[in-house]
Amino acid sequence: MAKLTVSDLDLKGKKVLMRVDFNVPIKDGVIGNDNRIVAALPTIKYVSEHGGKAILLSHLGRIKKEDDKPGLSMRPVAERLSNLLNKPVTFVPTTEGSQLEDAIDGLSDGDVLVMENTRYEDVKNGEYVKRESGNDPELGKYWASLGDVFVNDAFGTAHRSHASNVGIASNMGQTAAGFLMEKEIKFIGGAVDNPEHPFVAILGGAKVSDKIGVIDNLLAKADKILIGGGMTYTFYAAKGMKIGNSLVEKDKIDLAKEILDKAGDKLVLPTDSVVAEKFDNDAAHKTVDGDIPDGYMALDIGPKSVAEFEDVLKSAKTVVWNGPMGVFEMSNYAEGTLEIGKFLGTLTEAKTIVGGGDSTAAVQQLGVADKLSHISTGGGASLEYLEGKTLPGIAAISDK
Ligand code: AMP
Repeated sequence: MAKLTVSDLDLKGKKVLMRVDFNVPIKDGVIGNDNRIVAALPTIKYVSEHGGKAILLSHLGRIKKEDDKPGLSMRPVAERLSNLLNKPVTFVPTTEGSQLEDAIDGLSDGDVLVMENTRYEDVKNGEYVKRESGNDPELGKYWASLGDVFVNDAFGTAHRSHASNVGIASNMGQTAAGFLMEKEIKFIGGAVDNPEHPFVAILGGAKVSDKIGVIDNLLAKADKILIGGGMTYTFYAAKGMKIGNSLVEKDKIDLAKEILDKAGDKLVLPTDSVVAEKFDNDAAHKTVDGDIPDGYMALDIGPKSVAEFEDVLKSAKTVVWNGPMGVFEMSNYAEGTLEIGKFLGTLTEAKTIVGGGDSTAAVQQLGVADKLSHISTGGGASLEYLEGKTLPGIAAISDK
């Protein structure tokens, strides 16, 4: 059933608790990259422009001891938000108590308030009590009592049951998805539950063990799964091919065999690889067909594989990509990943969905991100969603 979204709510004069993802890189109080704050603006602006009093909650980093708190205050985030919105934002340097409650009572329609980092609640009086990340029932209930409705726009935490997402939702009459969350549900949820065919998944990255859940789930739904990256060579080993010094998960070879048997021709492995003598951008390297020679490690898919993958992709109507095709951080082994990213940008007839840090970095570096249908904002959450798991943060959003 479709989920309630922020545009379904009557916001005028309401205290709108909003879980956003302001988990930005921050060092010595300086924000490194404010993409996540920018991404949250449409929902915040919508609530404010419709007369809601926006009360924003987010986590920032991990807090395990009192000393972690000062460097992970939400204050610089609130200041940046104020600049981006071009209006004052109230920052409250606490997560509970009368100072917070009074500040909320003092809000006018359209105002925006940011409370302190929700993970400050993980450490109380020097003790690591995990009230936020352990979803302490009293904390969720308390935060819910501060608002009239709840909007969850933090997809990146949807795979976790924390007090600031699931805890609040389970104590609130109505929980709606924000626009970011709505888009994740539409595209990733749509691909998993009701994809337009042909549906092609491209899975890369270092390890089979990280992607096994996704492969398993998508084997039942996708028409083809293209495999690249380090995990290729565990599959090669499973087929009895030579892998030289390539990355391999020996304890996953049997599992890889089972997958290959089950998948038949649905699973497509690269047929050529860029191999190097060392794990080093400047090492001697070459392209080889099939087996990886002794003394070499495979660090990228080769040009033949790129062409074969493109041949499968060109008629796709839904494409999901997660994980690089090679050691994308080193320029000599980035070609496979970049070529696939570039090609996705040309698929104007397909829904193209990208998740995971390296694949996202690749399409951004190539400048094709805005040609794709959806770039997921959550790494772990998008993988679990692709695994077909129920994400507690999404399950807790009210049905329409
Ligand atoms: P993941 O976090 O599982 O998406 O994996 C990303 C990492 O996999 C990147 O840091 C890549 O450098 C690495 N990777 C991709 N292909 C290979 C390969 N053929 N050999 C070793 N590492 C690889």
